[in-house]
Amino acid sequence: MLPTLEKGEYRFNHSMASSTWLKVGGVADVLFKPHDINELIHFLQSCTNTPKTILGNCSNVLIRDGGIEGVVIKLGRNFSTVDRISDSAIRVGAGMLNSTLCQHITSTKNENCIGGIEFIVGIPGTIGGGIKMNAGCYGKEFKDIVHSVDILLEDGTMKSLVKDEIGFKYRGSNLPQNSIVISAVLEVSEHKKEDVVNKISDIMHLRTQSQPIKERTAGSTFRNPLPLKAWQLIDQVGMRGARVGGAQFSEQHCNFMINIGNATARDFETLGNIAIQKVFEGTGIAMQWEIKIMGRYE
Ligand SMILES: Cc1cc2nc3c(=O)[nH]c(=O)nc-3n(C[C@H](O)[C@H](O)[C@H](O)COP(=O)(O)OP(=O)(O)OC[C@H]3O[C@@H](n4cnc5c(N)ncnc54)[C@H](O)[C@@H]3O)c2cc1C
Repeated sequence: MLPTLEKGEYRFNHSMASSTWLKVGGVADVLFKPHDINELIHFLQSCTNTPKTILGNCSNVLIRDGGIEGVVIKLGRNFSTVDRISDSAIRVGAGMLNSTLCQHITSTKNENCIGGIEFIVGIPGTIGGGIKMNAGCYGKEFKDIVHSVDILLEDGTMKSLVKDEIGFKYRGSNLPQNSIVISAVLEVSEHKKEDVVNKISDIMHLRTQSQPIKERTAGSTFRNPLPLKAWQLIDQVGMRGARVGGAQFSEQHCNFMINIGNATARDFETLGNIAIQKVFEGTGIAMQWEIKIMGRYE
């Protein structure tokens, strides 16, 4: 049962393949884009029994070919704001893309700009997805820059959590189940703009060299079984470049799966599960998916 439809934007039987980085996945029964927080609260309070899935930029998800039951929520444009709230903090909407935030901080005409968050530029997700995943690279993770977050619980109640209450862990967090990150306060510092711009461009250069970022991919497929690296294990069992249908482990970075043709979600899931099995048989290590697999089988 959906609330009165004039509040927010609804699309029915919405194909998710066009939104996901892997370019696979069936339809969402309903896609809901609230224009503002009141619409989202109204929705959560009205649709208590409908299954709901919050998604950001879909850069870390594998949506199965049968699509997603219930309502997929994507935060609209009004959840992409940035406000400087002190010398050392900004409040950012959870729907903002990491790369857009980096463009924003360097767009000032001043000699100085805020920095300390440059590592997020190469992570192609939103602030909300980055917090949920505790995304990170080059020695820094969201946990190092988040001061606090505002979330909506599944009953529509607003709650603020400081960093220690978020339960950040390696590529994950312990946010309350089905909660939605609405905004975050990030810790920043003042730097010479030239230094921030150079750092951002170095990071982008490094990524182009080491990762297939122009491909249809969802980034690292498996968590690193620390201190080991997932790519080394995949390589060791001979799965660099291995294929199932249109899904392949990248030759360039073999913990990345890429869509080389008309892959299906099943191709990706099967390929990943073969790697898990081979690595387990070969090394005794049980790799864990970093990509979030969701939805119905076709
Ligand atoms: C080319 C490429 C490179 C990548 N490199 C890195 C990297 O270096 N480091 C790294 O850590 N990751 C990397 N990733 C993976 C991915 O970009 C990150 O995990 C990213 O933070 C996911 O954000 P998203 O907005 O796309 O989330 P989605 O993929 O849409 O969702 C991921 C999870 O977050 C949840 N979620 C999304 N938004 C919210 C919200 N507002 N509130 C609560 N939960 C939410 C979803 O339910 C889902 O469980 C890479 C991916 C690609 C395609």
